[in-house]
Parts: sequence; structure tokens; C-alpha cells
Amino acid sequence: MKYVSTRFKVTFGFEEALFCCFTEDGGLLMPETTPKVSLETLKKWKNLTYDEIVKQVVGLFVAEDEVPEDARDKLLDNAFQHFDTKDIVCLKELNDGLNVLELWHGDTLAFKDLAMTCTVQFLNYFLKKRKKHFTAVVVTSGDTGSSAIYGARNLKTIDVIVLYPHNRISKLQELMMTTAGADNIHLYAVDGSSDDIDIAAMKVWTDAGFIKEHNVGTMNSMNWCRIMIQIAHHIYAYLKVAKQIGDPVNIIIPCGGCGNMTSCVLARDMRLPIQPVGVSNKNDSFHKMMKFNERVLSNVSVSLAPAMDIALAQNVERIIWLLTDRSYDIVRHAMEDFLTNKKSKLPDSAYKKMCDVISTSVASDEIIIKAMKRCWEENQYHICPHTATAVAHFYGITEGCFAVREEKNVPSVCLATASAAKFAEAVEKADLPPCHSPKIQALEGIKERYEYVAKDVDWADLIRNKVVSISLRYQKK
Ligand SMILES: *Cc1c(COP(=O)(O)O)cnc(C)c1O
Repeated sequence: MKYVSTRFKVTFGFEEALFCCFTEDGGLLMPETTPKVSLETLKKWKNLTYDEIVKQVVGLFVAEDEVPEDARDKLLDNAFQHFDTKDIVCLKELNDGLNVLELWHGDTLAFKDLAMTCTVQFLNYFLKKRKKHFTAVVVTSGDTGSSAIYGARNLKTIDVIVLYPHNRISKLQELMMTTAGADNIHLYAVDGSSDDIDIAAMKVWTDAGFIKEHNVGTMNSMNWCRIMIQIAHHIYAYLKVAKQIGDPVNIIIPCGGCGNMTSCVLARDMRLPIQPVGVSNKNDSFHKMMKFNERVLSNVSVSLAPAMDIALAQNVERIIWLLTDRSYDIVRHAMEDFLTNKKSKLPDSAYKKMCDVISTSVASDEIIIKAMKRCWEENQYHICPHTATAVAHFYGITEGCFAVREEKNVPSVCLATASAAKFAEAVEKADLPPCHSPKIQALEGIKERYEYVAKDVDWADLIRNKVVSISLRYQKK
């Protein structure tokens, strides 16, 4: 399997893809062709466990001569050691046909752990083999940071620089990062939104010379490996919920940076009979792009679902590329327009192809609260404010529903992207009993470690300087 940039047809192997953030032409990596999964194969996979499905997926996307099967299985087994349920992900079948797939049983109580743990293991595998060191620059709107920190802390091969928007994430999201200190973790609380920080980090991520010199990359969802691993939970969701293999299933996804949506669209391209439905919170630029064929770079506002407070969803580029039959030209034009004019439109025929696949809607804070309440009343079951956007769509209470393709009378699965225990503020706002987790109780009393970064600091310079000091330290060893 080879990978290509979304902007020009240049090819990369899996190892290069794993360490790459943006390609030199500014694009993101995607598989050159999509491996297809037949109904016969799906039938064979029907009773596989989640980790077995991950192994099958990796087998389709990573060449045996890059990572041999036994090494692959070993590193994936390592990745899943810390999950608190035997099955790693679990399906909850609730009242009125509501299916919720809990993807948050990892260390940081959010779905990011599923792919992050594997990505870190793959990175470590190649770094050990090459005797090299890697610095990941990670910008987080809440959950990516803690997941990257837990995945990589205390590894000798990787340092992680994490920047998060100060006062714009939940208390527990912050506490998870600030208490997880280790010498290879460098945490900055920045006075800006995650999109603002992203723009600064972008200066570093796209500085090809610098990246190469210091072996810098990211564990944000620009990293192909995360997208690849996430394909597995869509397949798992399908196999658990489809009445018969071959029947369609709606997969309802709380969308932020659209990494999860990209994985879903890829799974569909592999011929999984699924209908992707993306739900945004009030930061609804993805929904607006789908509904009006106009992608606008707007400002982000703080919502009850902070991990979705994103206007600059990097992975939209991958989705456009895949759904316009891998059209490098369309992507290049759209992205140039978007980055220069803060606005872009797709050609009509390309837009139509997107609409044929994806449905979207929007859940405001008010609707999030309604869905959390109703889910509790009907099931005595807590959902987090992100998951609530998907559940709200299932309940039919989201706004501006844009559902050209979504089929009624078809089973749906709502992806539960985080545990409600991580979002105590929202649970309280919804007037529900508190939701506890031993993982959160364990954080009490641990000393917090982070550095505050003011607005007037040049954030890109700050990142560059930190990278340089890490790489100097590493060279001395
Ligand atoms: C990251 C995250 C999302 C958004 O996922 P994307 O892949 O960025 O769209 C939604 N919910 C939670 C809890 C998250 O951590």
C-alpha cells in the first residue's frame, strides 16, 4: 500500500506517512487506492473482537515488509493494554432503538485513546529500529492532548509538546493533562482558541527544512495512522448493529476536526454499507459547508462540547479528495481559496458527490442539554456533551438537518466519543446526578505542571525554540 498527498500525486510508504504531518505541497496523506472488503469478508469478521478488527484493518493498509505481522500484532496488543473493559469498545443497546458505541474506555476517557495508543506504538517501533528521536507538536481542543500525553509519557524515543487553549476546555480535561507530567512532556496553556494555536503550529508543521532537521511531526489527526486505526470502530459498529451483513446502518458522529468522519467515509469507500451522519455543535462550519457548498473560516466559540470547538477542520481536505474521486486539482484550488480568502466553494459536480455520501446537522448547547436529559430519563444512562450531539440527531431534535441520503427505518449507531465523567460541568448544567470515574478520582491531589503562555508571545517561535532545545538535549545523550 502506498500513500499520496491530497494535493499532488507523490507517493509515500507507511513509515513516511506515519512521521509526516503535512506534505511539502501542504497536503495530507491518504491511501493511493482503497482496499475493498467484500460481504463474504464482512461475514467472516462478524464475530471478531474489536482488537482483531484493528489487526485486519492494519493488515490492509500496512505492507508486511514495512511491519511484519508478528511485530504488528505485538505492538497492537501493547496499545490496548490500558483499556478498562475486556472488549475495549462496548455497544449499549438502549430504549427506542438508541445504540451507543462507547469508545472511551482508555486512559483519558475519550475515543482519541483508541487510535493514539496504536500510533504511539507504531512511532516507537520505527524509532527504535532506526535509533532516532521524534518530537510531536500537538494542538488540542481538549482530548487529543491528554491522549497523546498518556500514550507517550516516559518513552525515550518521543517528546511531546502540547499546546491547549487556556480556560476554554473542561476542568477535568485540563487536569488530565496537567497532572500527567513526565520529562518528555511539555505542556503549554495558551491564551487563545485552539484554531488560533493551530495557525501558529501550522507555521512549524509546514516548515519542511525545520521539520526534517529536527524530526518533528504531530499526533493530531493529520497523522494518517490515527485515521487508519479509527476505521476499525466503524466496521465494529456496523457488524454489531446490522441485522444482516449487507443491510445499511447509519453511523452518527460528533464532528470537530472531522478525523472520525474521514475514517467513516474511508470505511464506506471500502464498501462497508454505512451512511455517515456528522453532527456539529454551534461551531458548525462543516455542516454549513455541506448544506450550502460554502466553506468559511469563522471564529470559534466556546460550547458545552469543547473537543468539537473547531472551525478549521483539517481533515475536510481528505474528505473532499476522497469523495471527488481523488481529484488533486479540486482539492488544491479549494484549499488555496480557503486559506487566502477564508472562503471556498466546490465545483457543482464535486459538491454533489459530497452530498451523495454525507448527512449533517447541528446541536446547540440547549439541544445538547436536552439530549443528555432525555437519554438519562429514558435509560438512566449518562452521555457526554459530545455524544449528546449524535444522540440529539437520533432523537430528531437537531437543527438544520441536511440529510439527503440518510435512510429512515435503518438501525443507527451513535458514537460515544467521551465519558460523561470527564464533563462534570455539562452534567451539572443538565441537572443530572454526577457521573463518577475512578480514573478521575485518581487525579486528585497530584501536583499540576504546565506553563502559561500569554497572547503577545510569538507562539510559533515558542514551539520552534522548544523543539530545538529538545533536539539539542537528545543529541547530547
Ligand atoms: C476529538 C473529539 C471529537 C471530534 O472528533 P474529530 O475526529 O476531531 O471530528 C468529538 N468528541 C470528543 C469527545 C473528542 O475528543
